[in-house]
Order: sequence, then C-alpha cells, then structure tokens
Amino acid sequence: MAAEVIDGKAVAADVRARVAKEVEALAPDLGRPPGLATVLVGDDPASAIYVRRKREACEEVGIASHHHEPPGDISQEDLMAMIAELNANEEVDGILCQLPLPDHLDADAIVNALDPGKDVDGLTPISAGRLARNEPGLVPCTPSGVMELLASAGVDPSGKEAVIVGRSNLVGKPLYSLLLGANATVTTCHSRTADLGEVCRRAEILVAAAGKPKLVTADMISSGATVIDVGTNRTDDGLVGDVDFEAAKEVAGAITPVPGGVGPMTIAMLLANTVKAARA
Ligand code: NAP
Repeated sequence: MAAEVIDGKAVAADVRARVAKEVEALAPDLGRPPGLATVLVGDDPASAIYVRRKREACEEVGIASHHHEPPGDISQEDLMAMIAELNANEEVDGILCQLPLPDHLDADAIVNALDPGKDVDGLTPISAGRLARNEPGLVPCTPSGVMELLASAGVDPSGKEAVIVGRSNLVGKPLYSLLLGANATVTTCHSRTADLGEVCRRAEILVAAAGKPKLVTADMISSGATVIDVGTNRTDDGLVGDVDFEAAKEVAGAITPVPGGVGPMTIAMLLANTVKAARA
C-alpha cells in the first residue's frame, strides 16, 4: 500500500497560524510586535531569495522585520559591531545572519558573537550545548520542523529506532539530540558509514539529510517506516530530495515529498523561534 504523503505546506501553514495568534497575544505585553533582524551580506542570489521569503513570512504573522544589508566587502570588525548593536537593540528579539558569508569573513566568529537569547537559527555553541544537554533554548529550525512533521503524522519517536543520514551542525546533530530527547534510539550515519543500507533498514523513523540525490533507495527502507527527506538538491530534473521518492513511497508508511515536505517548515519554525525568543 502506498505511503501517506506528509504535507509540509499544510503543517507549516498551521504553525504560521499558531505563531500569528501568539504574536497577537504577546505584542500588548511587549508594547511592540516581536522583532526579527535579518543580516544579508554580499550578493548571493539564493541568499537574497531566502532572506526575502523570511521577511515576507514575518510580515504575514505580524513580526517586525528589521533588515540590514551591509556591503559585500564589509570588514569582520564592522560586521561584529553590527551584531553587537543588534544584540543590544531592545526591539530585536531574534537575529538571523544569512549564511554563507563571503570568504573573507569568519562565519563561526560572527555566529558565536550572537546573543544566545536571540539566536533564532540555534547555531551558537551555547544553543547547541543546551540542546545536547536537553535544556531549554533555541533549536535549529530545520530539525525542529522535522519533529513537527513527525508529530503531525502521529509518529511518537519514543521507543522507536531512528536513523539519521547526515551529521552536520545544522541538521544531523541537532536532530540527533531532539530525537534522543523524545526517547528514540538514535543512530547517525555519515559518509564513512560502512553499510548505509543495513543501518537504514533498522529504522522505524528514517531521516535523510545528506544532500545527495536519491541516496536512499527503496531497498534501504523497512516496510511501514516513516521517511523524512531533508535533502534539497537542484538537478536537471528540478528540485529533488535525498530519497528516491516514487519507489520509496511504495514501501514506507509515511513520507515527505521534495518540494513540499521539510522545506516549508524551516521558515515556519524560524517564526516560532522568534516568538519564543521574544517571550523569553
Ligand atoms: P552538509 O553540511 O553537507 O552535511 C551532509 C552530511 O551528509 C554530512 O554529515 C555527510 O557526511 C553526509 N553524507 C554525505 N554523503 C553521504 C553518503 N553518501 N552517505 C552517508 N552520508 C553522507 O549538509 P546539511 O547542511 O546538513 O544539509 C543536508 C541536506 O539538507 C542538503 O541537501 C541541504 O540542502 C538540505 N537542507 C534543507 C533544508 C530545508 O529547509 N529543506 C535546510 C537545511 C538543509 P560527512 O560528515 O562524513 O561528510
């Protein structure tokens, strides 16, 4: 029987509607709307599109967008000064510095300079440490979106075998902590995993986040597993995930498509994180 296809657009719309209500309730207490600062350095066209979408999403739910677009040749010192100003700005609850940064800038140092209380991408070492220790804090948006998708599909990770393909700081590692925190038994695979298929077949929850088109084939999926495809790969056939969707959906119990699965969740969770930061 074909898998249930998890509709990320619909789940993201629910999250946005929930955030809009929270913004409405929170604004009178704050005396202003929650605010998200976006920092876009340089002229990378993809980054410009991502930031524009994030700003539009803010406006839709009533979050104030404070946009900064310093020149591409800004010095490390000047960008650090801009981050320090935003850290101190009381109207700014969240700061998003769009990555990648131009090569002459030290992105780690910029991220590390963010006030962890405003780190709505959840990328600072403090945020990562809190998450690893299962302490409250801001969690990276894409892994949070994966957890929302599982919840929407009625999949409780507790006691289940979960396998993540990918160990990046952005997706794989934070997702490991989230699934472990939700009481799954979690295995993380990477490019040196000896037999990827064998490990993936153990999964009742399988998350692909490798950035390799069709890396996960149907024979790597156990019957009835929930498959979440984080991969976003631009190919001659258009945007595809890391999972061979057409074949996989004949085996899986539930599966996310690409596009329309994890992608829409990332911005929705950024909005949710901004409200969380404002409330804190
Ligand atoms: P990344 O930093 O490049 O990490 C990729 C991970 O996959 C690495 O840990 C790598 O292993 C592992 N990997 C690569 N090839 C593999 C293979 N053949 N077998 C097993 N593991 C393999 O990428 P990322 O930032 O985590 O992103 C992953 C994918 O998700 C990308 O397609 C990205 O575009 C997408 N993404 C989507 C969203 C969204 O909103 N939808 C958000 C973020 C990312 P090693 O560590 O050994 O190199």
